[in-house]
Amino acid sequence: MSRILIIEDEESIADLEKDYLELSGFDVQIESRGDSGLEAALHTDFDLIVLDLMLPGMDGFEVCRRIREKRDVPILMVSAKKDDIDKIRGLGLGADDYMTKPFSPSELVARVKAHMSRYQRLVGAGQKTNDIIEIRGLKIDKTARRVYIDGVEKNFTTKEFDLLTFLAENPNHVFSKDELFRRIWNMEAVGDNATVTVHIKKIREKIEFDTSKPQYIETIWGVGYRFRI
Ligand code: CA
Repeated sequence: MSRILIIEDEESIADLEKDYLELSGFDVQIESRGDSGLEAALHTDFDLIVLDLMLPGMDGFEVCRRIREKRDVPILMVSAKKDDIDKIRGLGLGADDYMTKPFSPSELVARVKAHMSRYQRLVGAGQKTNDIIEIRGLKIDKTARRVYIDGVEKNFTTKEFDLLTFLAENPNHVFSKDELFRRIWNMEAVGDNATVTVHIKKIREKIEFDTSKPQYIETIWGVGYRFRI
């Protein structure tokens, strides 16, 4: 799961941001001071940081500069004053994006998602050794055995991962449940293929926007399943 750090001293704003980001599947930590926020940012791996400018302990300018010395994590800076945003730009602190308060929580979520997928593409491009399958919003990192939907990581069990990867590597090919069971579980299918059905259902719940209208794994009635490309 992607982790986000919010460094914000106004509790009501921090809580609102946290609620919206958690609803979108992110794991969120709040720090209410600049100095404690910097500590957290340097000692824990976050996928993105939402940083307020006016903070007790250490201001956002300094926090941003010091995070940048050590880490590449995307930083989204927020401020109540438009002038501050211009100042941040002028200082070239290395923030990735800026938002002026007040903003709607859904706007924040949209920006966070956009940065996260851009960052993961860059990281992915730098690690040439990782074997990655990308189809529309679905990304399967075979090397790290991780699955992302629109940049957000989904937790997969070993067999769910193997099954999804096998289907995605063989798109537009219909496989019967017996065949999938033999290939993924390395066992002879013995009549009851409920295991495959259950795993497909769980995979769909994680990757499909609407499980009643699957965009990735289609059911071919009476035959089996096919990965759509
Ligand atoms: Ca503040």
